[in-house]
Amino acid sequence: MRPVVIAHRGASGYLPEHTRPAKVLAHVMGADFLEQDIVATRDDELNVAHDIYIDTVTDVAEKYPGRQREDGRFYARDFDLAEIRRLTAWERMRLDGSAVYPDRYPIRTGHFKIHTLIEEMQLLNRLNAATGRTVGIYPEIKHPAWHQQEGLDMSPLVLEQILEFSGSDNTELVFVQCFDDVEVRRLKGELACPWPLVQLIGKNAWNEAPTDYDEMRTAEGLARVAEVADGIGPNLDHLYVRTASGLESSGLVETAYELGLVVHPYTFRKDDLPDGFDSLEELVKFCAIDLEVDGVFTDFTDQVVAYLDEYAG
Ligand code: CA
Repeated sequence: MRPVVIAHRGASGYLPEHTRPAKVLAHVMGADFLEQDIVATRDDELNVAHDIYIDTVTDVAEKYPGRQREDGRFYARDFDLAEIRRLTAWERMRLDGSAVYPDRYPIRTGHFKIHTLIEEMQLLNRLNAATGRTVGIYPEIKHPAWHQQEGLDMSPLVLEQILEFSGSDNTELVFVQCFDDVEVRRLKGELACPWPLVQLIGKNAWNEAPTDYDEMRTAEGLARVAEVADGIGPNLDHLYVRTASGLESSGLVETAYELGLVVHPYTFRKDDLPDGFDSLEELVKFCAIDLEVDGVFTDFTDQVVAYLDEYAG
């Protein structure tokens, strides 16, 4: 079966990530799922945004000077939704103000906005109804432990809002993802999440969650993941190793399949290729044909759809 295409933060290779135009474009380009990263505001609204910080994707420092924390960062959690709505959203920058992806949408330009999870689901419902193409959602609960420290138990709220959007029986149209393995276990158990769960696998150096990802990628670690999750979202370079004869599977995909997990690696970008690949086409081909992954997270939905139609259609 052709791997599903998950529009990573929307068509973020073309338009600023997580903005409504980026989501609309990804829908038109043929994505099977739109991804939502979720962070909370001060008044417990759920925004679609990648980071707990908003200073590298908005003009918050200009609009609300002095509202940063001691570490110098501006946090979504310190602003009410009404304040966040006044911000202009931009293409992602580094803290020094330079573009993360110089060939993408020019930084500090455009009239984009941050929106909520509910608004995105409403938009998607409208697009699905208007086009007759049913595209699903792929929400990620960001930093649940940090949000707990900030006084918000985010996961139940996210599940409640998804339920409103899709109903609990629509299990092919929703994946819920999280980096924090304690929260994935809780989502399956205590919170009885009715939709498939994807355990994201990061790198310990990122400090994404208090989770040991090196251990998680072992057979024992993956077996524990499989007790509660339906799939894994590994980083691309977890999937393969370089040998004298070229690139070969690291064995992660095979082990996951033995355990009945689906595999949705991230992130397929033509302007940020993993080691060993010279083009997005080569990367898609390797993952779809050699590894037979079930889905891909990409910033370039249209190109990945075209390559998959060619190689795995
Ligand atoms: Ca994400």
